[in-house]
Parts: sequence; structure tokens; C-alpha cells
Amino acid sequence: MKTDRFGIESVKIGLEAHCQLTSLKTKLFCSCSADYRGKKPNTLVCPVCLGIPGSLPVLNLRAVELALMVALALNCKIPNETFFFRKNYYYPDMSKNFQISQYDRAGGNPLSVDGSVYIRVDHKRKKIKIRRVHLEEDPARLVYTGTIDASPYTLIDYNRSGVALLEIVTDPDLSSPREARIFLQKLRSILEHLGVSNGGLEGAMRCDANISIIGGPRVEIKNISSFKEVERALNFEIARQKDLVSKGISVKQETRHWDETRRVTISLRIKEEEQDYRYFPELDLIPINITKSWLEQLKSKMPELPDARRIRLTKEYGLPSYDAEVLTSDKSLADFFESCVKLGKAPKTVSNWLMTDVLRCLHNFNLELTETKFTPEQLVEMITLIEDGVISGKIAKMILPEMIKTGESPRLIVKERGLVKISGREELQLLIGQVCEENPDAVKDALKDEKAIHFLIGKLMQKTRGRADPKLADELIRAHLALLKSRVSTP
Ligand SMILES: [Zn+2]
Repeated sequence: MKTDRFGIESVKIGLEAHCQLTSLKTKLFCSCSADYRGKKPNTLVCPVCLGIPGSLPVLNLRAVELALMVALALNCKIPNETFFFRKNYYYPDMSKNFQISQYDRAGGNPLSVDGSVYIRVDHKRKKIKIRRVHLEEDPARLVYTGTIDASPYTLIDYNRSGVALLEIVTDPDLSSPREARIFLQKLRSILEHLGVSNGGLEGAMRCDANISIIGGPRVEIKNISSFKEVERALNFEIARQKDLVSKGISVKQETRHWDETRRVTISLRIKEEEQDYRYFPELDLIPINITKSWLEQLKSKMPELPDARRIRLTKEYGLPSYDAEVLTSDKSLADFFESCVKLGKAPKTVSNWLMTDVLRCLHNFNLELTETKFTPEQLVEMITLIEDGVISGKIAKMILPEMIKTGESPRLIVKERGLVKISGREELQLLIGQVCEENPDAVKDALKDEKAIHFLIGKLMQKTRGRADPKLADELIRAHLALLKSRVSTP
């Protein structure tokens, strides 16, 4: 590990993840629908979520239950009582000029504190401390034309205003953008296993990141729109700060915005000490008593979480721990794996395909598994085609991207594109004869040195676009050479 003054150990990152409880049907304090995506702007609103004076919030108890399940999953301490605060600020995304949130100071009691999550970085487990997990309402959505600093006006859609949001705050325990990504991936997997949030939905998971290098001041990057973007934003910010330091310019303590299109951070405001929000207790909502029996009841209903699933995958299917870690880092990937195994395929074979070729394809297409039409049935069909000798592994790798992109059956792709393996002896013998004629020098070499046979096999594979049965090809080329040899040595 690098330890110079720009080294990885000099980077400190803390995250504030905002996760919508997308499994809820209604908002946090009113009965408006929380399913705002794709809906006409400002149609899912009422006096409560618009904050019209005189309207009274009513707490969605299911939101508290889901938040408590997340707090339990993150090993947090949960107080007997929790209540809400008004976080006062004037901003167009908050029509009532305050946000109902929770606060850990001034006598505030957030829903939970002092948790931890383990992540795996380069085969080592690392503990990331969770400062608190609390509930708050989502602000409205600001819509810009073009970029935030060039937009001539701002549109506001209040449909999102009041949607239940979990804020999950870590200590600055992360020491690289990659670690931040791994942590967020783990967090997302936990939320998805709990069934409280679908991180694949646009805007369901957003993030603020605090970052400092070489003991310098903290720079906060606000509103990174997805976990995918976090690593990018942090990488840019580290490079920017290092560049300043190397020029002898000091880094300013400030808040910056991540511009996804241009992939740069832009200064929003220079930050003084603690932000000057004023917090007042929200007297329209009574404190929530969290009893032991309520927590016990929730615990008994908690589904299997990624860490437990990882251990089960190694025990039940004999997978290496590393495979199980990769698969459970994404709930949909682990589900996909188990479906393939249930359809009768060998666990390690399925795991190998998923961890290497499938993940690589998804990465190249910048897609998530759930965004594709690719199904376990298709992967199983492809593995069967290899096992039955219809296609070679090489052909399988070739058609996989097309399967993932179009969701088409591998059998159909292979048939349409004429990719079935050539295992007819006569057809192969004919082709081998041609390859030998075209490469007389290689044949001479192969007659003297057996290792040169591989060159001829390579040429045959090229000619057949990988369709020759490799075992049969090897056998037939050797037979062909033996025949040539006998002709040469017999006068
Ligand atoms: Zn409402």
C-alpha cells in the first residue's frame, strides 16, 4: 500500500447515504402515493406534503418499522424513544421552509446510532462505523435544463416531497473511492435483502460525500445522484485536491456539486463551521416509543442478510468464500445464481460464468442485471449447449453479450448465426487438409516438433470461427500428420 504524502492512507472519506424506502406505498407523513416516478409533475401532493399552514403530519408507522429493520441489520443501538425535529432552511425544494428530520444534538434522539458494517477489500475484512441511521422526508425534486450552473431557470416537482428517506451516516473510515463504492454496494445489498428499498430505481439512492486529503479541510460533495457515480466523483475530487496541493494552493473547506455530464465537481458555497440550520423539535408529532417486544417481533421477521447468505452459499453449494462474497454483493446476482442451480447446473460452473463473463458484459454495457432481459433459464440453456457439445466455450463467450443485450435464447442465436460446433469427422478432415496446404512451413515444423501442432489447431479454429470441436480437431490433425510422415518416410 502506498504511504507517500499523496498515498491512499492520507485520504479520508465519510458518506451520507440517502435511501428511499421504495417498498412503501405512501409518503412519510401523508397518504399521498410514494410511487412518483414517471408521473405528471405536482399531481401527487396534498396540504401536508406541501406544508400548507394548518395541515398536520401523521407518521407512517410502516416507515418506522422498515427503518428499524435497517438499523438492526447495521448493528445499531436503538434508543427507547425517538422524535422528530424541524430542520429550518430556505430553499426551493422545501415548500414549508423546514424539513422534518431527526437530530443527534440539542437533546435530539435519532432512530439509531453507533452501528457497523463489514466490507471486504482485497480479501481483507474492514469495519466501517455507522454514526447514525435516521428517518426524514425527501425534499421536492429540482429540475434543471442542462447543468445546474448554466440552467436559466429551475422547475420544481413536489411529487417527491415527503417520500420516506433513510439517512445513513458513516464515520470517515473509508480510505479510497473504491472502498466507498464497495461499502455502498454492500449497503444496497443489505437494503435489497431486507426488501425495504430497490436501489435500481432512479434517484432511490443518493449520496453526499465528505473528503479530505493529507489532513486538509473537509470538502463536501452534495447530491451525487447514484451510487455508480460516487466513485467517479471522489476520484475527480482527489485529483483536484492533489493538484492544488502540488501547486502550493490550499484546499478550501467548501460544498461542491458533482456534475455528472461533465464529470467535474463545481463549487457551490464556501462552508463556514457547522451549517447554520436551526433545529426545533417537531411538536406536531409525538415521540415514538420503541419497545423491546416491538424490536423482538421485527427481528423475528428479518429475512436472510448478505453476510448470512454468503456463509450459506459456501456451505450449501461448496462455493469458495470469494465467489460467495461477489455473488451476495448484489441481491439480484445471488438470486440469479440460486435460480440457475435450482435448474440443475453445477454451482461452481454457474458462479464462474456469472463472476467473470456476465459481470464483465454488464460492466461494458454499463447495465445492472435487473436492467436486462437476461434470465437464469438462458444461462442454463447456454451451459447445456456447451455440455452437450453443440457449441464450444469460445462460442458461448461470443454470444453471451448478445444474449444479455437482447434476452434472446442462446439456441436461437447459435442457429441463426450458424455457430453450431463442427464435430463431423469428414467435414473437419476436409478443413484440416486445406489448413495444411495453406501452411506448408507449419506442417514441416509440426512433423519435427509436436509443439508446433498448436499453430495448426489455431489456424483451424480461425478458419471455422471457433466452431471446430477442439478435442476432435487435435485428434484428426495428429492423424493427418502421422499419415504425411508415413508417406515421407516410405520410399
Ligand atoms: Zn401528501
